[in-house]
Amino acid sequence: MVPAPETGKIALIANPVAKSGRGAAAADEATRLLWSRVGEERVEVFYTARPRHATELAKQLGPEVGCVIALGGDGLVNEVACGLMERPADERPALAVIPVGSGNDYAATLGMAYSVVPAISQILHFRTVRADVGCVNGRYFVETLSFGLDAAIALDTMERRKRSGRAGTMLYLESAVDQLFNHLDTYRFSLRITDPAVGEEPQTVEGEAYLVASQIGPTYGGHFRITPEASIEDGLLDLCWATPKLIPMRALAILLRARAGKHVGSSHVHFARAKKVELDFEKEPPAQIDGEKITGTHFVIECIPDALTVVLGEPRR
Ligand SMILES: [Mg+2]
Repeated sequence: MVPAPETGKIALIANPVAKSGRGAAAADEATRLLWSRVGEERVEVFYTARPRHATELAKQLGPEVGCVIALGGDGLVNEVACGLMERPADERPALAVIPVGSGNDYAATLGMAYSVVPAISQILHFRTVRADVGCVNGRYFVETLSFGLDAAIALDTMERRKRSGRAGTMLYLESAVDQLFNHLDTYRFSLRITDPAVGEEPQTVEGEAYLVASQIGPTYGGHFRITPEASIEDGLLDLCWATPKLIPMRALAILLRARAGKHVGSSHVHFARAKKVELDFEKEPPAQIDGEKITGTHFVIECIPDALTVVLGEPRR
């Protein structure tokens, strides 16, 4: 058994190069604040040095750690969560997030403040819930898994960010307009809901889609509310897919409405909930998992209920 987050050690796993290097200063600030609030002896600090390093660090945390804080973007949160998931279920410390990244969707889902001082104050209240974790072909995700148009936009935005050093919603929208007007591709898919929500029947959906998303949390791509009603605590994946035929202007309008979760009424947008699904594509679509690229055409996706204890920023309404 791990100690309670209130009494155990606190491990800070920080990505110093997050947000063009702002991670290092944020990690220093967080470390000093934690020392002053809970004492140096209760704090362990780790800096990541390479991809997947945070997974190793989280997996190897000692039994005295009750809470691990991931300081970085969604990629780092994903890596820390993957490390925790490799530990036995009763040996996973609580996961908290200080958002320092270009994509902070999971932090938003937890209701975290966007700067270090208020985020630490929120974390040290240790308001926790038991959260679900998604798993696709054996790989974990905490917020989002998606295929097609939106993944293409997310991956293209990442490329533009690397090239230009810019960030933010404008960059995403530039990329979105480029994808919508120049590459509005569809993907032939088969979605089999093999393990449906209680009271529903297994079903198969086949056809062409611009995008298919399988969500644990409500957002992707920097706070686009693709599945606005998704809960991290209901033991279910929230699925959304968008079907033809849309002209680019109409697709853009739906995308813009999705920013606020207002795409729900469109006859081209479909939703379902499930514990487990199988998803196949005829050709390989662009695909992202918590903001990172993945590849393939056959995906077995499931929701692992009650997998991690997570620390909320604001209490649930
Ligand atoms: Mg859910």
